[in-house]
Amino acid sequence: MWYVSFAVDTDDPEPFAQTGDVVGIDLGIKDFAVTSDGQRIANPRHLERKRRNLARYERRKARTCRGSANRKKAARKVAVAHGKVRRAREDFLHKTSTELVRRYDTIVVEDLNVSGMVRNRSLARHISGCGWGTFRTYLEYKTARWGKRIVVIDRWHPTSKLCSTCGHLLARLSLRTRHGTCPDCGTLHDRDTNAAKNILAEGLSASACGADVRRTGTSRTRSAVKQEVPRSDPGRASGGRT
Ligand SMILES: [Zn+2]
Repeated sequence: MWYVSFAVDTDDPEPFAQTGDVVGIDLGIKDFAVTSDGQRIANPRHLERKRRNLARYERRKARTCRGSANRKKAARKVAVAHGKVRRAREDFLHKTSTELVRRYDTIVVEDLNVSGMVRNRSLARHISGCGWGTFRTYLEYKTARWGKRIVVIDRWHPTSKLCSTCGHLLARLSLRTRHGTCPDCGTLHDRDTNAAKNILAEGLSASACGADVRRTGTSRTRSAVKQEVPRSDPGRASGGRT
């Protein structure tokens, strides 16, 4: 009698089934992400706690003297805490991206130009902590591997200021405004869900006119977005699904 054991290689799983569903994702700081169908994906609390621990160990290290034994001990604690944050964040990003790729055939995200935004100091700590760049990398390789699709749209598209129901464009929108009623059609919007719906609509029109959506962030994707999207497209009203 003999046994055959299968090593389950998570790098090469069965393809996920096509679901017929599409989604737009608005990445944020308060919530990690908000989807066009209204789902909010919060940053995990345990990650926040680990980040605070890391910050505390870093402060302690800063108070020790250069070259001292205490400094060495403190540095070791910082390294351990740092590893915990990194692993917890990667774990969250993996789970979140896998779940999205499993549930949706097409995922539309904004090209946030993470490195460019991280140069802005006030946002830098938050954004590098959020792991948007890593998240997008995960989405890219998982969609490619499992026969799904990612569309990356122009980051200058006014996703928050545009009414996803009627296409009305607000002249100004404060970052503090979380909810708003469209002055044109009267729809009450949640800011992030509205943005995610716009991201989805934008991504679907970009891919409909033949842009090479797999090679994300190329000029071809961007030019397709700019030239082909009618601003008053009534198709926007459909929002979550097509
Ligand atoms: Zn409207």
